[in-house]
Amino acid sequence: MEYRKVPKGTEQISIIGIGSSAIGMADEKEIEETIALALESGVNYFDMASADAAPFPAYGRAISGNRDRVYFQIHFGANYKTGKYSWTTKLDEIKRSMDWQLKSLKTDYIDFGFIHCIDERTDWNQIMSNGVLDYIQQLKKEGVIHHIGLSSHTPDIVNQVLDKQLIDMLMFSINPAYDYRHGEYAIGSVDERMAMYRRCEAEGVGISVMKAFSGGQLLNAKTSPFKEAMTEYQCIQYALDKPGVLTVLPGIRNKKDLKRILGFLQAEEKEKDYSILGNFTPQDAAGVCVYCNHCQPCPVGLDVGLINKYYDLALAGDDLAKDHYINLEKKAEDCIKCGHCNSRCPFHVNQIQRMEEISTYFGA
Ligand code: SF4
Ligand code: SF4
Repeated sequence: MEYRKVPKGTEQISIIGIGSSAIGMADEKEIEETIALALESGVNYFDMASADAAPFPAYGRAISGNRDRVYFQIHFGANYKTGKYSWTTKLDEIKRSMDWQLKSLKTDYIDFGFIHCIDERTDWNQIMSNGVLDYIQQLKKEGVIHHIGLSSHTPDIVNQVLDKQLIDMLMFSINPAYDYRHGEYAIGSVDERMAMYRRCEAEGVGISVMKAFSGGQLLNAKTSPFKEAMTEYQCIQYALDKPGVLTVLPGIRNKKDLKRILGFLQAEEKEKDYSILGNFTPQDAAGVCVYCNHCQPCPVGLDVGLINKYYDLALAGDDLAKDHYINLEKKAEDCIKCGHCNSRCPFHVNQIQRMEEISTYFGA
């Protein structure tokens, strides 16, 4: 397993986590065994926005004795009173649900306490004025919550919350369909979404990724907006390459799903290569580096994707990006303008021009 560090914390979280939305389809024994297998395999990050109440006690049993090896992402606003998920912004319901969730999980603290599913300004305003945000902040002060997070599908809302400097983590829906304006949660332009991911990285807010397969639509040529199927591994790699992303949370249903997803860790580069997307890139996204490194190898050893990422992050205000760039062994000024990367880039980026621009920027 590979781990990425939470920028505003010490936690190292696994790049593959578990989304619990569909795991309630399995019986409790299967859920327990799946979670135990995940832990054995090095998975340590679990999102608890489940469609059902049943997984909570099963999780509680599965992690018994291993709580310190687990990071839970728990949602303030997910309500399980009826045995099924419902969404609420009411303070008393949120308090009741949180008590129940913690009791079921057999824990008394929350690693990542998320303001749940805020996509509208009215909902955000309500959370701020009806005591819910105060309650979450109070729990953070008391040490019950270690980090505050937000789950959302809307860049505009995320930017408003980032302005308040409240959160350390964001759960966001990232996949090529939504990023290229296809699907229910394709909210915001291509540029707006990318700028938001960069802003998260620049401001030290980690991203956990939901809906990495666009609810499964991308995995089937018949339902994919691109009329061609992508694989789970391509989608996971796509999300992991986005700035700010720490972990991807596929919604697994059982051990079989988990084993298949964990195959990503042993997969060859060509299985994770999502350059096929270059065929579907909308006009306003063409020419924009997505840091995929499909253009490698560069004959002089430039890490083209990383150099571009540091440059974009520096432009987004990330003070550390310049230091990271300076520490690179090979820099943009070493480019010999051979054009190999330009001819290989599926996203039609002119790297010869970019490298000149980057060299001037950092050299200044
Ligand atoms: S130049 Fe193209 S192929 Fe190379 S990292 Fe950027 S987007 Fe990927
Ligand atoms: S054009 Fe520059 S960055 Fe691209 S492959 Fe050639 S030397 Fe490397």
